[in-house]
Amino acid sequence: MTSVFWFRRDLRLSDHPALCAAAAEGAVVPLYVIEPALWGSAGAPRAAFLLASLRALGASMGGQLVIRHGDPKVVVPEVAAAVKAQSVFVTADHSPYGASRDRAVEQRLRQDSRHLVALDANYAVAPGRVVKDDGNPYAVFTPFSRAWLRVGWTKPLAAPAVHWLGDPAVPCERYPAKPAWDVGEVGESAAHARLTAFVASGLDSYDQQRDFPAVEGTSRLGPHLRFGTIHPRQVLAEQRSTAAHDVFRSELAWRDFYADVLWRQPRTVWENLQPKMDAMPVDTDAAAKQRFGLWQTGQTGYPIIDAGMRQLSATGFTHNRVRMIVASFLVKDLHLPWQWGARHFMQHLLDGDIASNNHGWQWAAGTGTDAAPYFRVFNPVLQSERFDGKGAYLRSNVPELAHVSDKDIHAPWLSKKGLPFGYPPPMVDHSIERDEALRRYTIVTANR
Ligand code: FAD
Repeated sequence: MTSVFWFRRDLRLSDHPALCAAAAEGAVVPLYVIEPALWGSAGAPRAAFLLASLRALGASMGGQLVIRHGDPKVVVPEVAAAVKAQSVFVTADHSPYGASRDRAVEQRLRQDSRHLVALDANYAVAPGRVVKDDGNPYAVFTPFSRAWLRVGWTKPLAAPAVHWLGDPAVPCERYPAKPAWDVGEVGESAAHARLTAFVASGLDSYDQQRDFPAVEGTSRLGPHLRFGTIHPRQVLAEQRSTAAHDVFRSELAWRDFYADVLWRQPRTVWENLQPKMDAMPVDTDAAAKQRFGLWQTGQTGYPIIDAGMRQLSATGFTHNRVRMIVASFLVKDLHLPWQWGARHFMQHLLDGDIASNNHGWQWAAGTGTDAAPYFRVFNPVLQSERFDGKGAYLRSNVPELAHVSDKDIHAPWLSKKGLPFGYPPPMVDHSIERDEALRRYTIVTANR
């Protein structure tokens, strides 16, 4: 029997339960559909990473990967009919867009007496599986993460032997033009090489190093996990029980937590998880758009913000600590909607993932799952001094600051020497805007 395997966020062959199930049925036609809806919103870094990952995947199956463009509701049933497949196998997609797309594809296939077989998940523990004893979901991360550990995951599987069938009845369409973006080595082998390097040199000190943006102290596995060139089970299989490993494991639990929250409440993709926060006044006028532009381009006059935003535009990556600082600044110093920042991140991040990103933003905005929310206003100067004391991260991303002393670099407008040539003064006064943010929050509390 021939079946179709429709790859999406699982661009690998090993530890792939859904692929194993397809291979057990007989020959497999491997398919990837380039969806206009996703391609358009990806931005150059992620689009380039996707194409390079697809090429690596295609090479790992002897060039048999069938690429099609278009709406999966049309394309997937068409391919299944052309190769006379009864079943289309997939790894279940739990994102709001993916889940509703899959329902629509399943319906179309059923009209033709074919089936969509959805197995496994792109998470260590699939959304919906971590519940309290009474069956209710956890609303807060810490108890979720304890229960997540108890539920656990299986050992990674080896790649199955697959009889690939790039059927000539399904012409392989061209890849889209590759965006001009260098993603380096990608694909399944590159993901495992990254993991091996991190286990050898970063994992044991992760708890000590992960907050310092000038240090290569994190795994940089984000884009690989995003596209499934590696599965979190494979990453978790490398963990022992030490303080550093526990902290790293808990970051993977955050990934599953946010996926679970979004799966249960798909409306929170762009709406506040806490509806009371809808009363928070935000600025959206022309002046607000101008402020947004300065934030996007890294011209705020706050070095840590500018370094983070310029690193994002130049590399498709920003360090987690800096993501939190720039997000807090957008919401609490500039009083802009978190959704503006989240959209910008989704355009630029190589690891852009709708659940981690939009709930990461809601965490920073105090509209999401965090229990102690709005009063936490990051001070960009103190954060910079604490996590980039010598200014190495600032200097490597903001060349105008290259010659500023360690002492002056975090708040160069206070330097006796004046601002370095070409670098702007701070666009707002943090202490005034912090008070303004807290004043606006009293409107929310008064409304309750
Ligand atoms: P490591 O520190 O090595 O962590 C390993 C993996 O754990 C990451 O690759 C990621 O899959 C997961 N992880 C780590 N921290 C988090 C977290 N706080 N939430 C969810 N998963 C986490 N992560 C994304 O994968 N995609 C996003 O679009 C994204 N947007 C974010 C937006 C904001 C405003 C914030 C504050 C955080 C966001 N994060 C996002 C989480 C985190 O910043 C990145 O996962 C991390 O910086 C990626 O680098 P790394 O792979 O070296 O991470």
